[in-house]
Amino acid sequence: MFLKSLDIFGFKSFADKTRVEFAAGITALLGPNGCGKSNVVDAVKWVLGEQASKAMRAEKMEDVIFNGTETRKPLNVAEVTLTIANDEGLLPLDVPEIEIKRRLYRSGESEYFINAAPVRLKEVRELFWDTGVGKAAYSVMEQGKIDQILSSKPDERRYLFEEAAGITKFKVKGAEAERK
Ligand code: ATP
Ligand code: MG
Repeated sequence: MFLKSLDIFGFKSFADKTRVEFAAGITALLGPNGCGKSNVVDAVKWVLGEQASKAMRAEKMEDVIFNGTETRKPLNVAEVTLTIANDEGLLPLDVPEIEIKRRLYRSGESEYFINAAPVRLKEVRELFWDTGVGKAAYSVMEQGKIDQILSSKPDERRYLFEEAAGITKFKVKGAEAERK
């Protein structure tokens, strides 16, 4: 499983349709301060379902929508699409390529799609259980994250081991069954 490409439109500083292709090996983003490198990482977290505006370095979630410049009008929608190679079938969908899309309108309405089919956020989350991808997992290691893991409480750290061991799914399903 690896990231193939990321399409960004109307998200943060990306007013124009922008595609980032992840070639084999390591991809590095280079550029001057404020050119949008961290916004690319934010876009990856966002499309995977991040709900905290703080994690997007924004005050409220609406602030991820391109808010205009001196010469350009603000946009009314942000859209990010992440294409993931699933040749090895690590993600539980029987297709070699999976496309996750998230859209947010200024009205507050939000949409998620998996391979162009509208889904709920829950389905996006479930797709990535036990893969290390997704909220609170370990696939996005931003500045300060290692420190945060090292200084976290044992039960917080335990989550990472459970994710790596592949038992998150059973724990969540178990808790859901208990509530019923
Ligand atoms: P550094 O090297 O300092 O870490 P960077 O390349 O990571 O910089 P980012 O943090 O990705 O830069 O981008 C910051 C820029 O994104 C700022 O210029 C900010 O104005 C712009 N930006 C953030 N949100 C929006 C938005 N909603 N609309 C327009 N521009 C935005
Ligand atoms: Mg940055």
